[in-house]
Amino acid sequence: MDRIDSDRGEQAIMLTRQVILQQIANGAVQPIQKIVVVEYDNAQQSPISFDHAGTHFEVLELIGIYRERHDDPSRLYLVRADDHIFGLCAVIRQSSDGMTRGRWVLRFRVEEPQEEPMLVDFRLKRIADFHGHLCPELVIGYRACLCALSHLELELLAAPGLRVQVENMTSALDAIQQMTGCTTGNNRLAARDNGKHIYTFVSGAGKGIRLTLKPNDVLFDPEFLMLEPRVQVGQATLWETARYQVLLDEHIVALLHLDETALFDVQPVWTTASIDNVTSALVPCSRCGELTAPTHLVVIERKRVCLTCASQTSVHVRDGLYPR
Ligand SMILES: [Zn+2]
Ligand SMILES: [Zn+2]
Repeated sequence: MDRIDSDRGEQAIMLTRQVILQQIANGAVQPIQKIVVVEYDNAQQSPISFDHAGTHFEVLELIGIYRERHDDPSRLYLVRADDHIFGLCAVIRQSSDGMTRGRWVLRFRVEEPQEEPMLVDFRLKRIADFHGHLCPELVIGYRACLCALSHLELELLAAPGLRVQVENMTSALDAIQQMTGCTTGNNRLAARDNGKHIYTFVSGAGKGIRLTLKPNDVLFDPEFLMLEPRVQVGQATLWETARYQVLLDEHIVALLHLDETALFDVQPVWTTASIDNVTSALVPCSRCGELTAPTHLVVIERKRVCLTCASQTSVHVRDGLYPR
């Protein structure tokens, strides 16, 4: 018999989606396999309650909807109900008369892990809380900061005022903002989406380092690269999604423990480029007419135009913090 203790009350740990998928991948599920009556909300496209083992369960959260198999129209709803996580399947069958029939089967309950997984590093924990989850890009950004801050320790004591340039628009940006206090808002973080894990950190005196991510096994994991597009477009089964989560977690751990010299190529840089002074003045661009800070206008054909208009004329306008 499957015992469901609904009286855990305030003791209950709220399992995150990440932990739930880890449990499923590890086989920590209690099979139920019972036909249940489900109240389904068509507007929300979600089950809202069901009865099982003499108890009425209200669905508090829909964690995800998955296929059970690629060739089967049935849908598996992973739901949080009354401190438990259930796999509730809408089994859809095409009968010989061409009619589609369905019924609900309560497939399993996810078991609680023995202990709550802990993030040992409190700085990483704070970054993950800020970002909303822990992911490989966040770890790369975090490691880049650790590497830069140790390399530039003396440099920054003599000349504070760190500035960072990031050549991607991934989760890494959140790690950098949290770790360094450099933000796009305070003009000490410049990000452009070149799709590269390249990070340049420069002290107030213009001395700094440029970190380039080196190839490593984590980046070229074929199973992960096969699963990722399926998960992203919502075509993955629950088991594939759970496996994907396990690989993601393995990548996070691997990236956290990879030796710094194996992770980044480090080059010294020197720049005289200063941060633009913050200005409140705005003038219209002479091509598009949009109000623009004068520091961000460039002269093309004797007219002061904004960077958007300038880039359409395909003229290279600005240099960032690049090695010389
Ligand atoms: Zn992320
Ligand atoms: Zn313009």
